[in-house]
Amino acid sequence: MTQHTDNDGLAIDARHLVKRYAEHEVLRDVSLRVREASVVSIIGSSGSGKSTLLRCMNLLETPDRGELTVADEAIRFTRDAEGANVGLDRRQIQRLRAQVAMVFQQFNLWPHLTVLGNVIEAPLRVRGLRRREAVEIGEHFLARVGLADKRDAYPAYLSGGQQQRVAIARALAMQPRVLLFDEPTSALDPELVSEVLGVIHGLADEGRTMLLVTHEMGFARDVSHEVVFLHQGVVEECGSPREVFENAASERCRQFVSSVA
Ligand code: ADP
Ligand code: MG
Repeated sequence: MTQHTDNDGLAIDARHLVKRYAEHEVLRDVSLRVREASVVSIIGSSGSGKSTLLRCMNLLETPDRGELTVADEAIRFTRDAEGANVGLDRRQIQRLRAQVAMVFQQFNLWPHLTVLGNVIEAPLRVRGLRRREAVEIGEHFLARVGLADKRDAYPAYLSGGQQQRVAIARALAMQPRVLLFDEPTSALDPELVSEVLGVIHGLADEGRTMLLVTHEMGFARDVSHEVVFLHQGVVEECGSPREVFENAASERCRQFVSSVA
């Protein structure tokens, strides 16, 4: 019989994560699981720890305690008496990061590179692909986000919605197992929100594994298999969109949902 591990079918399995900034405990024993080919949304008010939690998933932030398994890389976090992280393996961190791509609120495109240049940069430098192969993949994903014709343009000449779609193509070009989105539409003019949500919706329909922080409640409800409500660094409620948006046990969650609806 085949031996199965606990995280069978899980793209992300975060267990008991703790993250502090000095005295401020921003994540307090947070556990979160994302199944392969599923979409999980994190909601919660400003300052509740959503971005920090997301950034822990690709180790842009290093948790102080807990364990994280992403795409079969299992990492356990502990600190020594001086507060320094111990036992982290650099190569393991690099392998984990290569499996997780992030899309930021502010797009973060490189202004001195063309659209295609932005998309192929990491495949060339991080994955070590040959230029021809990287260009082929880059063109494929630019077409996927509807921007094939912008390949030679510079970011400054694009709308915010187009820039965010380039950022999504750039993330896809790394061919990651998991996509992370941190409020991908919060920096956009209202009329540009739907073109970006449309692209993310299409990725969900394709069965991509995604973890996203969003203030777009209708979208979260539509696209997610599971919703997590974070409050002061604690998962206060989690479940199906229906459970969280209509039937939350937590009074705070009910208040939050009705305040943003
Ligand atoms: P959210 O994304 O839900 O708005 P964040 O994860 O950005 O919340 O922040 C959670 C808390 O952690 C906030 O109180 C914020 O001020 C604090 N925080 C975030 N990043 C840092 C940092 N680099 N240094 C100190 N405090 C931070
Ligand atoms: Mg945030």
